Amino acid sequence: MNFFKAATMSAPLIEAPAQLWSALIQHLCHQGEGVRESGAFLLGHKTKTARVVTMVLPYEQLQTDALNDDYVALTATSFARLWDFCRQQGLSIVADVHTHRLGSGQSRSDRTNPMVALTGHIAFIVPRFAQGNVRLQDLGMYVYQGNHRWLAYSGSDVARLVNLTGDEK
Ligand SMILES: [Zn+2]
Repeated sequence: MNFFKAATMSAPLIEAPAQLWSALIQHLCHQGEGVRESGAFLLGHKTKTARVVTMVLPYEQLQTDALNDDYVALTATSFARLWDFCRQQGLSIVADVHTHRLGSGQSRSDRTNPMVALTGHIAFIVPRFAQGNVRLQDLGMYVYQGNHRWLAYSGSDVARLVNLTGDEK
């Protein structure tokens, strides 16, 4: 019964203020300088139907050497700091985002090491180190299902599942 699936899939899974979103993409672009990966956590709260982003926490603000290697890596101490911060601010981790040099596909490491290993957690991958004009349909969007399994979305599906609010677009 495909139509049941189609109906539930049409609602956005995550929403963010359009200005915050474009500031995020710009930040990833500048941080990576076109030569290295960069990333951030998207913090906010979860409702019954969607995840609402209210704040962006770039990885390098959590850990100064997070971007030093070829890829993004956070230590256990950084995660402890992140949980503390969220508890103090009353925020949840609703998603994470990082850039790749080329496409928006998940690496083997992305698949096997979710930043947050909770079912429903969302991971975005921004292609081309976020250089140039990045549209929602350029992103890879991955929703964690547990046991190293993900639902993967790309193209117009991402544009449909991400609701950017308060902007003319
Ligand atoms: Zn990756």
